[in-house]
Amino acid sequence: MRATASAPTRPARPIWITSVADDTEHAVTHDAMAAGFTDNTGTYRALCRATVIPPAMTEPPGARCPICRAILRNYRRRR
Ligand SMILES: [Zn+2]
Repeated sequence: MRATASAPTRPARPIWITSVADDTEHAVTHDAMAAGFTDNTGTYRALCRATVIPPAMTEPPGARCPICRAILRNYRRRR
């Protein structure tokens, strides 16, 4: 059994979080989530570099960010 060792540092299953700044769901990596927790800003850096300001958990998700989607698609395509 061989692992895909040549794969780039694809973010491991990012989390989609809606930002109240643009009412759009952005992909946030676990690392970016951790950074958001430790720097006490309450915000996260999305894959598209947008600053994600999370809404109340009761808010329905917004439309997914096309830039984050494109970045993730690009990661999947690479090898
Ligand atoms: Zn985005």
